[in-house]
Amino acid sequence: MTLNRVARLVERPVGMVRRENFAIRDEPLPEPRDGEFRVRVSHISLDPAMRGWMNDVRSYVEPIKLGDVMRALAVGHVEASRHPDFREGDAVSGRFGVQQYAVSDGMGVGRVDERLAPLPTWLGGLGMPGLTAYFGLYEVANAQAGETVVVSAASGAVGQVVGQLARIKGCRAVGIAGGAEKCALLRDTFGFDAAIDYTAADLAGQLEAASPAGIDVDFENVGGAVFEAVLARMNTFGRIALCGLISTYNATRPEAGPRNIRLVLTQRLRMQGFIVFDFAPRYGEALGALAGWFKEGRLTLVEDVRDGGIDAYPDVLNLLYTSGNRGKLVLKV
Ligand code: NDP
Repeated sequence: MTLNRVARLVERPVGMVRRENFAIRDEPLPEPRDGEFRVRVSHISLDPAMRGWMNDVRSYVEPIKLGDVMRALAVGHVEASRHPDFREGDAVSGRFGVQQYAVSDGMGVGRVDERLAPLPTWLGGLGMPGLTAYFGLYEVANAQAGETVVVSAASGAVGQVVGQLARIKGCRAVGIAGGAEKCALLRDTFGFDAAIDYTAADLAGQLEAASPAGIDVDFENVGGAVFEAVLARMNTFGRIALCGLISTYNATRPEAGPRNIRLVLTQRLRMQGFIVFDFAPRYGEALGALAGWFKEGRLTLVEDVRDGGIDAYPDVLNLLYTSGNRGKLVLKV
């Protein structure tokens, strides 16, 4: 008998997630009713925000309830359908959760084209992270040709796209990442103009060398010391698209800073937080552009696909917070 391997959140983590925070078990295969279909999930997206969704705090989405299947974006194939618009064999992406099989009524589910790119890519640059890069850089930060754009967590899912979209726009793209290997990836694979290793000495000096004309746009993914260093080099009327603060997601005490926030005042900076869902009505436009650049070979997308199935979820998720991933982190089911 086919069973459904499922990860349910059963306690709220303190600090990094642990295996014990989840009940990972076999459950009966869910059956679609009229107007529904069942998806065999093939890959699950690991996103830094997952850690925040586990906290019982005010946020942009409801916290995951204890006992619920862990929320996750995923891709897979329809394997049984009682829905008029979805057929067996369709490749789809949606919020299917950390489980092998999901039943859906089609809300928020999109079709993906495996001829254009393999399924994991639709969780990365041709999925939510790509859309985040597109709207964060072009809309929130309003990056213009000739400007210098700095992005942190630059080799990751969002960052790798930000750097390449900055180049496509005619900007100077500077990426910040941890370690020489990731910096080589930024320069050699993604075509950044300069790469900065925040784990090496003299972050301020490296930034100065990489941005001789100062920084016009900060695409902020990290927060903390990296953010402070970038803030210190922002040009007057620069823009900060506050996309993420991954250095704080597992913090057990409130974080201080940025200690040099005074610069937002003196340099008349504009800082705006955003959530990619804000742009949902325009996803089609952005996906069309991203897919076009990908097809033309102007957008290189790297995924880090891990084995281990549903049981590996807690350990694989933690790779995001320990700099263990190389590109968009995906769990193969
Ligand atoms: P990544 O693929 O970039 O993976 C996370 C990376 O963050 C790690 O590999 C590591 O890279 C870096 N990192 C982790 N901890 C630290 C730390 N303490 N200090 C510095 N760097 C750290 O993840 P995503 O691209 O999926 O997400 C990037 C950011 O974008 C996150 O903050 C996320 O929350 C945010 N995001 C926001 C969205 C929105 O709608 N606002 C949507 C999607 C993502 P390294 O080795 O270089 O340190």
